[in-house]
Amino acid sequence: MTRILIVEDDPALRGSIRSTLEHSGYEVRTAGDGAAGARELQAETYDVVLLDIGLPFIDGWRILGSLEGRRVPPVIVISARGDERDKVRALDLGADDYLAKPFGADELLARIRAVLRRTQTAPGPNVVIKAGGVTIDLAGGVVLRDGSELRLSPTEYGLLAALARHSGQVIDHRTLLREVWGPSYGDERNYLRTFAQRLRMKLEQDPKNPKIIVTVGSRGYRFGPPA
Ligand code: CA
Repeated sequence: MTRILIVEDDPALRGSIRSTLEHSGYEVRTAGDGAAGARELQAETYDVVLLDIGLPFIDGWRILGSLEGRRVPPVIVISARGDERDKVRALDLGADDYLAKPFGADELLARIRAVLRRTQTAPGPNVVIKAGGVTIDLAGGVVLRDGSELRLSPTEYGLLAALARHSGQVIDHRTLLREVWGPSYGDERNYLRTFAQRLRMKLEQDPKNPKIIVTVGSRGYRFGPPA
């Protein structure tokens, strides 16, 4: 059963999200402040976390920051702060998605399904792709840099695998967003910019002069040199 943690201090919203999710067959735990949320994340494993930003004791930014580098479930930030800088900041800190309040039940469920689909990707074709000292084993879902395994979030891996499967070809923004984030995405170029940058920091010898995750003008992205 898929387990979801809701970290939200507004009791009415927390309750309504909980009943929406339970009706859809998810197992739900809740935390009413940031400290309780952080404790839950230490103690238990979850498949998805819904994380508010404005929280008592420890805010959502600090929780996100503390997750960096740990093996953690995908995080969807739910926040009343809908501006673009907050979205970018959340993604920079490792969130997988950002949902501005108020949102409808259908939209929330669609985002959760999309994030789960990214996490539970079926094994890829039995193909190993190499570029710039990096090896990607699509069947095993393993990425090596100079022989040691890299730790990537599900979404980072999803984007890398989508690009690597079409190694040497330009993939346009819309196609990438649909393939990695899901069918309801298409205009969120800032998601691609943020995740491409995160991948470069992990993969590239010189992230400022990328050879693996290449931006191709306004057309899209390409894995490695042109085919
Ligand atoms: Ca709040």
